[in-house]
Amino acid sequence: EKKIRRIDSAKDKSRAREKDSDRLKVEENVFDVPTLKILYTLSNKGVIKAMGGSISTGKEANVFYAEGPDKELAIKIYRIASSTFRAMDAYIMKDPRFTNIRNKKRDIIFAWTRKELQNLKRAKSAGVRVPEPILAEKNILIMEFMGEKEAPYPLLKNTHLENEEAKSIFDIIVEYMRLLYKKANLVHADLSEYNILIDPNNLTPIFIDMGQSVTLEHPNAREFLYRDVQNILRFFSRYGIKDKPEDLFKKIQAE
Ligand code: ATP
Ligand code: MN
Repeated sequence: EKKIRRIDSAKDKSRAREKDSDRLKVEENVFDVPTLKILYTLSNKGVIKAMGGSISTGKEANVFYAEGPDKELAIKIYRIASSTFRAMDAYIMKDPRFTNIRNKKRDIIFAWTRKELQNLKRAKSAGVRVPEPILAEKNILIMEFMGEKEAPYPLLKNTHLENEEAKSIFDIIVEYMRLLYKKANLVHADLSEYNILIDPNNLTPIFIDMGQSVTLEHPNAREFLYRDVQNILRFFSRYGIKDKPEDLFKKIQAE
C-alpha cells in the first residue's frame, strides 16, 4: 500500500512538472488503469522499489526514472490511448517473428514492447552498449537507467565535443552498427543523434530506442541501414568527418 502511494505520488510529481496542458493530457493517457495495475504488481514483486519523475515524453512512449532493488531503472511506457501506432504497423507486420499477432492496436503495442526488449538483448549479446534490458510486460519495458543520480546521460545531440572526441565516438558508432548487422542480424532503423546517449565518464556512445529495429529478413532492412548511415554522417559532418554514405554502408556489411 505504501508502494502504491509512492507510485501515485510519482504520478502526481510528473504531472506537476508538466505545466503545458498538451503534455498534461499525455501524462494522463500514460497511467491508465491496466498500466497502473502492472506497475503495482511489479512493485509488489520488488522489481520496482520506487517510481521517480518523468525523463521524457515522446510520440509513442513516456520514460520514467525508477529505483530498482539494486540499481536505477528506466521505465518506458508505451501509451495505448494516444500513440501513433500506424508507423509501428509497417515495421512489425513484415517481421517474421511477429506475423501471427492479431491486428489490434493493443496487441501491436505489446508486441512492439516485447520486440524492443528482444532487440536490446540481441544488441547487448553482440557487444553493443545498450541499456541492459530487464523485462517487458504488456506496454511496459524496464531497463537499466543510463545515467547517474537520477540524471540521464546526455543525448549525442546535446553533447559538446572536440573533433578528436567526435571522431572516436563516430568510430565506435560505426563498429556498433557493424556488430548489430553482423552479429545481431539487426538494423537499428532509427539511429541518429537523438537515439544515442553519451557516457560522459569515458565519452562512449550508448544506443537506445530499439523498438523499430528490424532483422535483416525485413524487406526494407538495407534501406533503413542506409538511412541510419546518412543520419550519422550528416551529424558528424560538422566535426570534419566526410566519409561517403555508400562506402560506410558497404563497410558495415563487409565480412
Ligand atoms: P518514441 O519514438 O515513442 O517517441 P522515444 O524517442 O520517446 O520513443 P526513447 O528514445 O527510447 O523513446 O527514450 C526517450 C528519452 O528517454 C531518450 O532520449 C533518453 O533521454 C531517455 N532514455 C531512454 N532510455 C533511457 C535509459 N535507459 N536511461 C536513461 N535515459 C533514457
Ligand atoms: Mn527516441
